[in-house]
Amino acid sequence: MKSLACSLYGHDLKVTKKITSHIKEYQCQKCKKKYTTSPSGSITELTQKRQEINTVLENMHQKKLNRKVAKVYS
Ligand SMILES: [Zn+2]
Repeated sequence: MKSLACSLYGHDLKVTKKITSHIKEYQCQKCKKKYTTSPSGSITELTQKRQEINTVLENMHQKKLNRKVAKVYS
């Protein structure tokens, strides 16, 4: 779906998912297209491939967090 407003004013991105402290997933509130943070730190289209990478990163991040929590409470 194309939105003229997006090409004129830019996308109205809202964070839909926090993967790590640096990487997030976004969705444009106007055209509903999905975006994510690229490894270089810019916003890029959320492709199938990037979605898979994000899932892996998210799992790794969760495990790391759990380990930290375990350390604090042991
Ligand atoms: Zn848009």
